[in-house]
Amino acid sequence: ATVKEALASGRPTISFEFFPPKDGAATGRFWECVREIEAVRPSFVSITYGAGGSTRDRTIDVVAAVARTATMIPVAHLTAVGHSVADLRLILERYREAGVRDVLALRGDPPGDPQAEWVPHPRGVAHAVDLVRLIREHGDFTVGVAAFPEKHPRSPDWESEIRHFVDKCRAGADYAITQMFFDVEDYLRLRDRVAAAGCDVKIIPEIMPVTDAAQIERFAALSGATLPEPLASRVRSAGDPAAVRAIGVEHATMMGARLLAEGAPGLHFITLNRAGVVLDIHRALGLPAARP
Ligand code: FAD
Repeated sequence: ATVKEALASGRPTISFEFFPPKDGAATGRFWECVREIEAVRPSFVSITYGAGGSTRDRTIDVVAAVARTATMIPVAHLTAVGHSVADLRLILERYREAGVRDVLALRGDPPGDPQAEWVPHPRGVAHAVDLVRLIREHGDFTVGVAAFPEKHPRSPDWESEIRHFVDKCRAGADYAITQMFFDVEDYLRLRDRVAAAGCDVKIIPEIMPVTDAAQIERFAALSGATLPEPLASRVRSAGDPAAVRAIGVEHATMMGARLLAEGAPGLHFITLNRAGVVLDIHRALGLPAARP
């Protein structure tokens, strides 16, 4: 099965994002977390690709290992940073051989400073749209792309943002997953803009639970997401970590419920390789198993 098939069922997809573990100790924790998530029967799980392609082999190994469990659909994030077209083809070939059918096609960011000027690899691809085409040509993959409820930080205006997004869809993207955001209105406005441009590709909202005040401010700054002031000040004045976590669970649950009520095609949770918080939110939302 693929994400495309999961979305076609018409029921909301429930999915979770992990990053590939760095070393032996982290690997144990990673699989513990994956097993806890597996128990709620997610629609799919995705594995990130480290900044600048830094986790190439680890991402491929982990995605292939999840595929071997045969209980979960793995989605491999792939970025164009630092890779020639030949490199990208080799990676896709490894996925094809491992029976992996789902790739999230991303441009990636300049190594070091994600907001710096983007310079493509001289023999690589310039934009995610080109990666979508490359993946489509290479084999029978379901392809996802990124969407930005607050606009990509480097986009000059909404008109070009939506035009480039729709280009990715026309090039063969089957669905999109958003950048993190904290105000549901931003997601709804993006969805309406895309629909108004005549594009009906499903956009799955990503939910990043707030669990740590300093960390969330850092992530928001890195990704260009706005932490709304009422939420930010609640988190800052919460005091102890347990109180911050409770606010994070409450806010994410509220967002998830509203998004589903508004007809979002699914929810994609960032786990940071810890299952506790996302499973609390999953429980609070009363979500059923997404797969039999
Ligand atoms: P693009 O679609 O190429 O867009 C980037 C910018 O270029 C936008 O401003 C767009 O409007 C503009 N643009 C697009 N096409 C053209 C064109 N033809 N001419 C001019 N301008 C154009 N990063 C990682 O390193 N690893 C990950 O695992 C990872 N996972 C992610 C998962 C999700 C769900 C999301 C939302 C992002 C993820 N990212 C990841 C971050 C992502 O790589 C960055 O946000 C990157 O800056 C944009 O990627 P993109 O695929 O949207 O690029």
